[in-house]
Amino acid sequence: MHLSRIAGGCRALQRSSPHISWKPTGKRQQTIAAEVRRSGIGLHSGAATTARLLPAMAGEGRYFVLSLGRSRIPATIEHAVNSPLCTTLCYGGAMVRTVEHLLSALEVCGVDNCRIEIEGGEEVPFLDGSAKHWVEAIVHAGMCEATDFNGNTNEKMAPFLYGPQYVCRGDSFIIAFPSSKLYITYGINFPKVPAIGCQWFSCSMDPDTYSKEIASSRSFCIYEEIQHMHDAGLIQGGSIENALVCSAVSGWLNPPLRFNNEPCRHKILDLIGDFSLFARNGHQGLPFSHIIAYKAGHSMHVDFVRRLANIW
Ligand SMILES: [Zn+2]
Repeated sequence: MHLSRIAGGCRALQRSSPHISWKPTGKRQQTIAAEVRRSGIGLHSGAATTARLLPAMAGEGRYFVLSLGRSRIPATIEHAVNSPLCTTLCYGGAMVRTVEHLLSALEVCGVDNCRIEIEGGEEVPFLDGSAKHWVEAIVHAGMCEATDFNGNTNEKMAPFLYGPQYVCRGDSFIIAFPSSKLYITYGINFPKVPAIGCQWFSCSMDPDTYSKEIASSRSFCIYEEIQHMHDAGLIQGGSIENALVCSAVSGWLNPPLRFNNEPCRHKILDLIGDFSLFARNGHQGLPFSHIIAYKAGHSMHVDFVRRLANIW
C-alpha cells in the first residue's frame, strides 16, 4: 500500500475518535454468571414484558434480542433514536424502549457483555422505576470473566477524555472534564414545583456508591403533566407503584421518598444508562471524567454521547 494511503488511514482513525483515548483498566471483561429473569410492566407501552439476562462472549458487548423478530439490537449509541421520556434503540426494523435503568445497572456493576432477551413486547419492564431490582438480581446471579470462541478473555478498556466536552441548549448543559476518577454532579430545577425545587447531588461512581446512593432512586413525574403525557400515548404503564408523583400545588402524592433529593439522584441513574451506550465490544461506556449536568435529560445525554463518538 502506498504510504500516503497509510497516512490517510491513520488520520481517518484519529478523526473517528478525536475526543477520547482508550486505556486498559487492568480488569478482564465480565459477563453474568447465571440467567436473570424479571417481569413487569413497560412504562410507556403498558405491556407486560419479561427481560432475560444471559451470559455473552467477550467482545460481544451488551445487546437486546426481541422475541418478536429475533433481530439483535446492540446497546450502542449508533442505534439510539430520539424518543420522549425514555431511551430507545432501533436496528434492523426492531425497537426496544426504556433501556436506560437496566443498562445503568449493567454498566456500573461491570456486566460488560450480556444478551438481553425481551419477551412480550418492545420495552424493558420498568419494575419499581429504579435500578434497585436489577442490581439485586445481578449481584444474586454473580459475574464471571467472559471468554471468546477460543476460550480467551479480553482486557477491558475505558475511555478517557483528551479535554473538556460539552453540549448545551438554553440553560441546560452537560460538561465533562478529564479526570482519572469517575465523578458525576447533577442539578435539576423545578421552580413551579416547590416540593422538588432546585436540587444538586454529586458522587464518585463505583459499584458500592451506586448501590447505596443511586440505584434505588425512582423515576418521577409532575402530576399536572400526567394527562398530557397519557394523551400523547406515553406512560400507559405508569402508576404510583413505579414513579414518584409530585404536584405543583400539593407536593408529593405518594411519599415517602427514599432520599430527600431522590429526583436528582435518579437523573444520575438515567445519565449512566444513556452514557453506557458509548460502550462497545465489551469495553466501558462511561468516560473517566467529572461530568456535570444541569436540567438535562435523555435527549441531551444521548446528544453528548453522540458528540463523544463524533457522530453528531
Ligand atoms: Zn429514569
